[in-house]
Amino acid sequence: MFERRLQEVRRHLETLRLDALLVSHIPHVRYLTGFTGSNGLCIIARKNQHFLTDHRYRDQSKTEIKGFEIHVSRIGLLEEAGKRRLLKGQSRVGFESQNLSVFAHNKLQKLLPGSALVPTLSVIENIAAVKDEFEIESIKRAVRITEKVFQKLLHILKPGLTELEVAAEIGYLHRRYGAEADAFDAIVASGIRGSLPHARASGKKIKRGELVTLDFGCRLDGYNSDLTRTVAVGRPTARARKVYQIVLDAQCRAIEAARAGIRASALDRVARGYINGKGFGEYFSHSLGHGLGIEIHEELRLSALSKEILRAGNVVTIEPGIYIPGFGGVRIEDDVVIRENGCDVLTVAPKELTII
Ligand code: ZN
Ligand code: ZN
Repeated sequence: MFERRLQEVRRHLETLRLDALLVSHIPHVRYLTGFTGSNGLCIIARKNQHFLTDHRYRDQSKTEIKGFEIHVSRIGLLEEAGKRRLLKGQSRVGFESQNLSVFAHNKLQKLLPGSALVPTLSVIENIAAVKDEFEIESIKRAVRITEKVFQKLLHILKPGLTELEVAAEIGYLHRRYGAEADAFDAIVASGIRGSLPHARASGKKIKRGELVTLDFGCRLDGYNSDLTRTVAVGRPTARARKVYQIVLDAQCRAIEAARAGIRASALDRVARGYINGKGFGEYFSHSLGHGLGIEIHEELRLSALSKEILRAGNVVTIEPGIYIPGFGGVRIEDDVVIRENGCDVLTVAPKELTII
């Protein structure tokens, strides 16, 4: 698995005429090596590969990483690379321009006076965007945990609980069910707060008759899940039911249309066109979805502005929403794997409006 990933990086080295690529973004380091710590750096050269970390991870890195020359440092990772002359003689060294700080770049330049530092864009992102079956299985297991949490929440949610209390349950239950972490701070948005697409959970109490949007996910073996359901606590209003049904129909249409070869922008248009047609277009204020995997938001975006064409093996979220100021909001989000002739929906949690 890691060998194939390294081969792909080396293919990019050739195309970009690089002698080596410095990988500093920690999810990418994990993707290439299996290292689960918080401080590490890879140097992938044409013929060899190095991994650097600090002393806290001396033993862990040796257990987790195979096939890399491991260097444990007490002086800083870039400094160690300089001291050990790991990049000596490499005339063109690529770095991850979206992830290396200006500070680190300056340091690197001083350490490598004879080399050209070449900014690269999306090298690992592009490789990681297409998942193999093993990765898809990992995402699916993360989705299962999150769905189990959702099922449990249906028994916990009641009027009088604060959004923060619900978020605390989510974090607790994820770990209870075996996740390594939350994928992100859970969004719990009740009543009129539902009109804020990314509302952080607050001290607001959930009231009877309100819709509650729950958007949460977990990480398992380095892969993330992402689930949104909007539920009603007590009887919803007719307007809430109507908005819910429009979002659900838009979401199902987009899932129906998802397959390899479709433009990301065209898929966004499927859901957006439907919501526009129902007169709620101005309230669908974000893109349809995003790539999902080693990061909760990967680079692939299902947006009107995207130039991407979906490929088999992409894992994306499909999550249209309607957010009406002063009223509230509805979002429904599933995770899907793009296949040649359609998509596999990883999420199985029910989507009809649940009334608690
Ligand atoms: Zn989400
Ligand atoms: Zn999402």
